[in-house]
Amino acid sequence: ATPMSIMVGIGRGARSGVLIRDAAALETLQNIDTVVVDKTGTLTEGRPGLRGVTVLPGFSEDEVLGLAAAVETASEHPLARAIVEAAAARGLPRARADEFGSDPGLGAWARIDARRVLVGNRQLMRQRQIDVDACEAAADAARGNAQTAVLVAVDDRVAGVLAIADALKPTTAEALRALREAGLRVIMLTGDNRRTADAIAGSLAIDEVIADLLPADKAGAVKKLQGEGRRVAMAGDGVNDAPALATADVGIAMGTGTDIAMQAAGVTLLSGDLRGIATAVRLSRATMRNIR
Ligand code: ADP
Ligand code: MG
Repeated sequence: ATPMSIMVGIGRGARSGVLIRDAAALETLQNIDTVVVDKTGTLTEGRPGLRGVTVLPGFSEDEVLGLAAAVETASEHPLARAIVEAAAARGLPRARADEFGSDPGLGAWARIDARRVLVGNRQLMRQRQIDVDACEAAADAARGNAQTAVLVAVDDRVAGVLAIADALKPTTAEALRALREAGLRVIMLTGDNRRTADAIAGSLAIDEVIADLLPADKAGAVKKLQGEGRRVAMAGDGVNDAPALATADVGIAMGTGTDIAMQAAGVTLLSGDLRGIATAVRLSRATMRNIR
């Protein structure tokens, strides 16, 4: 590889917002056959919004939303922000939360006044042996609509479901089509529910969906693909994605995401536009062809 052609390749990328860290990253990109993409903040905008509240008898919408928001005030998760913002938009008073706790792939909990409030996914409720049958229909309807169903339990009983949607980035569909046309296999990786994940994947050129993943399992999923002989680029934005980005043959971070993801990656897409992945692969293939 001539240093000159590498520099030209890296410079071309930079001009279109695709920052390639070094010669190794540029060289490796040509051999990639699989692109693994995180869902939240990578395929989607990562700015979820509340779309609906369903409550069980004995609870009002404002009560369930207010309790959930009181818990989520202390959480950093994007879903938490959506819940807190929706409660504020409705002008709900902010209750005080004590004994806050959270589990990154599951949800959060706290004591609000004298009540134990739990906010999160089905696994979290199962872990606490809370029966969610009474709200499964509402939760499943949300998931089928590509929304995330966030369950709320009060004193060990399910009280309602918050349906939360996170829009796809406007260029995501086109970006994935380009990857498929370049002969790459596209796999979506998410901690979200399988049904939600499948509903989102259904409108996109995605070959495979790996859902219900705990944050710590993302790197393991990449390693497994590599063990099957695949050469993997992984695109992600979050702190949770950093180990998977570092494990992949090439990590691709969103410039709109966390610094930790960018530090773990060989490529950064400045504006988070996934069309940059195909651009990077094309650049690599062109550069490496020239130097042989
Ligand atoms: P993703 O891979 O889609 O970014 P995460 O690993 O961050 O997802 O979270 C996985 C799932 O855990 C979420 O879809 C949600 O159901 C649940 N979850 C995690 N943290 C919270 C929270 N603070 N409030 C509600 N739900 C949460
Ligand atoms: Mg993410």
